[in-house]
Amino acid sequence: NRQFRLAKRPEGKPDHDTFDLVETDVPDPGPGEALVRTRYLSVDPYMRGRMSAGESYADPWEVGDPLRGGVVGEVVESNGAGFEAGDIVTGDLQWADYATAPGTALRAVDPDLGPVSTALGVLGMPGRTAYFGVREVAEPGPSDTFVVTGAAGAVGSVAGQIASLAGARVVGFAGSAEKVAFLEDELGFDAGIDYSATDDYGAALDEAAPDGVDAYFDNVGGPITDAVFDRLNVDARVAVCGQISLYNATERPTGPRKLPGLVSKRARVEGFLVGDFAPRFEAATERLAEWVASGDLQYRETVTEGLESAPDAFLGLFEGENVGKQLVRVSEP
Ligand code: NDP
Repeated sequence: NRQFRLAKRPEGKPDHDTFDLVETDVPDPGPGEALVRTRYLSVDPYMRGRMSAGESYADPWEVGDPLRGGVVGEVVESNGAGFEAGDIVTGDLQWADYATAPGTALRAVDPDLGPVSTALGVLGMPGRTAYFGVREVAEPGPSDTFVVTGAAGAVGSVAGQIASLAGARVVGFAGSAEKVAFLEDELGFDAGIDYSATDDYGAALDEAAPDGVDAYFDNVGGPITDAVFDRLNVDARVAVCGQISLYNATERPTGPRKLPGLVSKRARVEGFLVGDFAPRFEAATERLAEWVASGDLQYRETVTEGLESAPDAFLGLFEGENVGKQLVRVSEP
């Protein structure tokens, strides 16, 4: 059994030295626990926060701790965990070939809803983040312009499509011409902006969102967000989902101060965590699955092969190497 551990805390950008791959025995499930063989492992931007000692919304890992994250896997052995061998489950498990978990920390994955990997993407945490962030925080309506950053990623790609379903004009920022083509041609965005091709995000926005911005779903922060804030309309809503452009920053960046502009715009800026909506996860997943089944919601996955590729998959999130949800395939059925 192979398992990744935190080798050291990264300063700034993490790299391969952040990770340690160690050999361990396959663990025995204790009472109430199941032994799970990992099929897919999710790498997510929030894990960067757990690698640092400082404040974050998820507890920091200690150096030497096994890394953990969303996993879809197959139950190999159940010790009164409420599952049977062969069941497909998902939960927060170690980055490992095999891991144990209490049955109460695992959820069954319904293979009829789609490929089981979707339990980590469009039908999992990222999909639900988009669902609640759009519908409960950004609240785009039919005559609104909705802007999303990180638009070709796991959360952003779903958020933009849900805003389209609500009738909004949808504009997405993404980091390459290929991603913009994906937004416009496959996901039905009204306009995409390749932010790698310009420094003048404001001019690009004026073209793509000539009527200003009514709802903004921010995954990225930094100068793109500065430009969006200058173009908020009266009563605009800003859903602060993430700020990935700042996750590797060693100092808090300074920039244009946008808050005075919010007064006359009566704009609302609200951070949110998907976990706060936990009591409604099941309903959200059902709705997302209906949209996927009807073709209203398209999704993409980028998959690296083998547990050993997990650091590359994680580091690639900060380089924009993924389209849609970034996953690691650890084993085949
Ligand atoms: P993504 O699939 O969107 O992957 C990250 C993407 O961010 C990359 O593909 C890259 O795309 C973009 N990116 C990386 N660095 C920068 C940068 N410096 N400037 C602009 N874009 C950059 O990840 P997720 O969908 O999983 O997460 C998206 C955001 O949502 C993150 O900020 C994450 O922390 C947050 N999140 C928040 C949750 C909550 O409960 N609030 C829950 C889940 C996620 P590109 O090519 O466009 O640069």
